[in-house]
Amino acid sequence: MIPYGRQEISDEDIAAVVSVLRSDFLTQGPAVPAFETALATYCRVPHAVAVNSATSALHIACLALGVGPGDVVWTSPITFVASANCALYAGATVDFVDIDPDTFNISVRALADKLERAERLPKLVIPVHMGGQSCDMAGIRALADQYGFKIIEDASHAIGGRYRDEPVGTCRYSDICVFSFHPVKIITSAEGGAATTKDEYLADRMALLRSHGVTREPRLMEQKPEGGWYYEQVELGFNYRITDMQAALGTSQLSRVDAYVARRHELVKRYRVALSGNRIALPEEAGDTYSSYHLFIIRLSGASLEEKAKAYDALRGRGIGVNLHYIPVYRQPYYRALGFEPGYCPNAETYYAQAITIPLFAAMSDAEQDRVIDAVAAVIT
Ligand SMILES: *Cc1c(COP(=O)(O)O)cnc(C)c1O
Repeated sequence: MIPYGRQEISDEDIAAVVSVLRSDFLTQGPAVPAFETALATYCRVPHAVAVNSATSALHIACLALGVGPGDVVWTSPITFVASANCALYAGATVDFVDIDPDTFNISVRALADKLERAERLPKLVIPVHMGGQSCDMAGIRALADQYGFKIIEDASHAIGGRYRDEPVGTCRYSDICVFSFHPVKIITSAEGGAATTKDEYLADRMALLRSHGVTREPRLMEQKPEGGWYYEQVELGFNYRITDMQAALGTSQLSRVDAYVARRHELVKRYRVALSGNRIALPEEAGDTYSSYHLFIIRLSGASLEEKAKAYDALRGRGIGVNLHYIPVYRQPYYRALGFEPGYCPNAETYYAQAITIPLFAAMSDAEQDRVIDAVAAVIT
């Protein structure tokens, strides 16, 4: 089976992890700040806080922004459940804004309409850069300025992507930007994630929340240190730390992120030529974005969910590891129990009926891609 995504591990990656294993620190050592510096430099942003997953990063990002009980958080329904769950962890309630049918990202028009009609305005909106293509961040920023909400970019798919000629993660239009380094994503640290921000206060709070709310930095303490041993717990934090082994792997992988994304673009070009001209709708690129192409999502024009399921099974039967990103979050039993019903976001429903993720990863060979192309051409006619 050709998977929809797969990591690539080099000899340099292995050497970097082994050198940590032979060093004094397996965790809380120098590899974590080195990874944070490399990320901040790459993203052209002052602060990066590395943690054990994007899910953890989303959680502490919500808390750092003061999201809590009584607050409402809005996100896209076409995302991994973690983008919505983080608000529930913080005690807030969640609502969903429909997607743009062409980019699969949160629709700025739907967001504007919903804000105009809202009885309770959101404290926070979490746009998700679906498949690696940045949302219309300038449009979302303009609405944030008008209505006074905060913005966390869920850029779990999007490291290596760009928006208006700047790296995703630079936070020009947002408060915090979150990345995932799970092995299916663009670069990996096995498990791992990070949050970037321009705001030192938010960076400090997230660093505290990552590690029990405990600090040894006098500037973050409430009292004067009572001695050299002194530490203070100033928040109710968690253990969301990333290990030094993971951080070393992440730093090593980050040095190849541009090459990975360039290879993904090459493969996408081949897909666009080979798959155009039948029932397949190819994803559109917004003019001011450079996608990291975490995912290549095709749609079966006009298909029903049943029809899509047949094509999906047929492709799997031919050894093509197709997937679906994602079932609209509000359709999940957990969210239905909160009062949501299928059909809540019409564009997300159409997307769900027709979308299939086909394999795309930097280490994919042209020959593997040809197998995918042949199978898709045979199944979708
Ligand atoms: C993968 C993913 C996450 C969660 O990432 P982890 O690092 O596995 O916690 C969150 N949001 C989106 C959109 C994702 O794709």
